[in-house]
Order: sequence, then structure tokens, then C-alpha cells
Amino acid sequence: MEIKAAITTEKGSPFYVEQVQLEDPKEGEVMVKVVASGTCHTDMVARDQEYPVPLPAVLGHEGAGVVEKVGDGVKSVSEGDHVVLSFAYCGRCKNCLTGHPYVCENFTELNFIVDSPNPPRRIHRDGEYLTTFFGQSSFAT
Ligand SMILES: [Zn+2]
Ligand SMILES: [Zn+2]
Repeated sequence: MEIKAAITTEKGSPFYVEQVQLEDPKEGEVMVKVVASGTCHTDMVARDQEYPVPLPAVLGHEGAGVVEKVGDGVKSVSEGDHVVLSFAYCGRCKNCLTGHPYVCENFTELNFIVDSPNPPRRIHRDGEYLTTFFGQSSFAT
């Protein structure tokens, strides 16, 4: 579907609001219509490449909104639910399975896409994939 996103294109760049394409949610994922997002120094650290998130990227990691679609296997929320977004975790590693997803062994790969052989990118602009951030990229609709 078509959405609007504030894109970071290069180190220190302004955020450019553009029309981009968002894929449907995959297994275990949720599509949320973002209605609010905080802006945090972590977004600026990523924009300024002090944390080397691959660019171009759609940053934002303090989103809130309404569930629009759920992927296969999602049971905890459904369409129309109001939600606050958090980080991504795998749900399969030892730490996730013992109730500690905040120290997921795949946290860096899932949330920052750094050194990921199979990055979970879901947003693209005319065929060019944009890096997602913190499992949410809340600087987008
Ligand atoms: Zn933050
Ligand atoms: Zn995990």
C-alpha cells in the first residue's frame, strides 16, 4: 500500500517526506496506522550515523497507532486495536523463550538491520528498499 514516510537519505540529512510503498505484514507481524510518534536522540544518532544503520532509512521508534492488518499467526492483537509500538524480537531464542525479549539474541539484526544477511525490510520507494528501524519505522503513516 502507499504510505508517507520521513526518509533519512544520508548522514545528517533532513527528513524528506515522500510517498513510499509498504508490504503486507508477514507471519508474526502487524501493520499499524501510526497516529503519533515521539522523536528521540536515538533517531538522531542513527541519522548522524553514530550508529551505522544502513541508509536510506525510515527511522522512528516511539510510535502509537491503530492495528490495520495482522500477519499469519498473530493472536495478541487484531484489526482496530489501539497499540503502542515497541522493539522487535525473534520469539525463538533462549532469552525470548524465557520471558526476556529485551535481550533477544537477534535484537541488533532485527532492530537496526546492521550486518543482517536477511534484513526484514518492508518499505520501498520505487523498488529501492529502505531500512526499517526498531521493528517499526514510526516516522511514517
Ligand atoms: Zn527512544
Ligand atoms: Zn529472541
